[in-house]
Amino acid sequence: MILVTGGAGYIGSHCALSLIEQGYEVVVFDNLSTGHKQTVETIKNITGSNFNFINGNLLNPEDLDETFSSRNIDAVIHFAAFSQVAESVKDPAKYYRNNICGTLNLLESMRKYNVNKIVFSSTAATYGEPVRIPIDETHPQNPINPYGFSKLVIEKIMDDYDRAYGIKSVRLRYFNVAGADAKGRVGEWHDPETHLIPNILKSTFANSKTFQMFGTDYDTKDGTCVRDYINIEDLISAHILALKYLEAGGKTDFFNLGTKSGNTVKEVFALCEKVTGKQIQVETKPRREGDPAQLVADNTKARQILNWKPDKTLEDSIKSAYLWEKKLQENLKSNY
Ligand code: UDP
Repeated sequence: MILVTGGAGYIGSHCALSLIEQGYEVVVFDNLSTGHKQTVETIKNITGSNFNFINGNLLNPEDLDETFSSRNIDAVIHFAAFSQVAESVKDPAKYYRNNICGTLNLLESMRKYNVNKIVFSSTAATYGEPVRIPIDETHPQNPINPYGFSKLVIEKIMDDYDRAYGIKSVRLRYFNVAGADAKGRVGEWHDPETHLIPNILKSTFANSKTFQMFGTDYDTKDGTCVRDYINIEDLISAHILALKYLEAGGKTDFFNLGTKSGNTVKEVFALCEKVTGKQIQVETKPRREGDPAQLVADNTKARQILNWKPDKTLEDSIKSAYLWEKKLQENLKSNY
């Protein structure tokens, strides 16, 4: 059985669904602080008996004890974390306590119950301001906000837990995750939403605020920031490969997950107009604090060692995100 922490959230829910569809038994552990009970219900309805849900908090060791003691857990995929950069600057204590202490509790339970494999959702934010593009895994890690630092500390802790206790980890450093399940069953649902694609798409619905484009004076081809948008289903396929890699006795390692090509905010905006068939209102705003001009992944290592091949386009991601967003807006209207 695979323990998926944060499985009621955006990335974790896609992973839980995909694991079950590939024949794994899954237990989702989530305190529903940012994840949604409706997402858990959706997964339950689709998958039935191969799915268990625990409403638990990583900061409560008793919740973890209950989870590990009553199940035969083979490996952990760990998503549960706070992930908003701006919030982490305002309230670092929240990020250090939840992300770092929560992961320490999880690792302690793994030690106690002899579980020695973990796939961890890390981030390109561990690199900080890029000194070269594309960013490969040997790029210096100098995070510039508490969110990125919390993830880097966890990566270091995982190295020590391998050396001392033999817990093997794969850390997946995400670039910009985009899109939703192609069938529209689960998708991105943050409140407040801070990410580019959902914010552009949301602005096309009645009573939504106008899309704000942050920063048009960067040193890039059209003045807006360049990001590497990796499709959620491609991202999840890397998690399953990472799990299989650990199951096959793979050593502790870390990989970038991105496409190796970047798109500007204006390019993403234009593609959203194409996919929705709407002319979208936009307000130009000053730069958002802490946004580097460019972030693009070198994904060679994941291709070579995990045998990973991302194959979805940015347009695929926007199409699936739009399908999901339409459904979410409908559901929210009917008190979902
Ligand atoms: N962005 C924007 N308006 C928004 C949200 C994001 O212009 O409502 C820009 C943001 O400044 C950055 C890019 O879109 O240049 C990607 O931002 P996002 O928050 O999606 O991801 P990040 O790169 O911060 O992880």
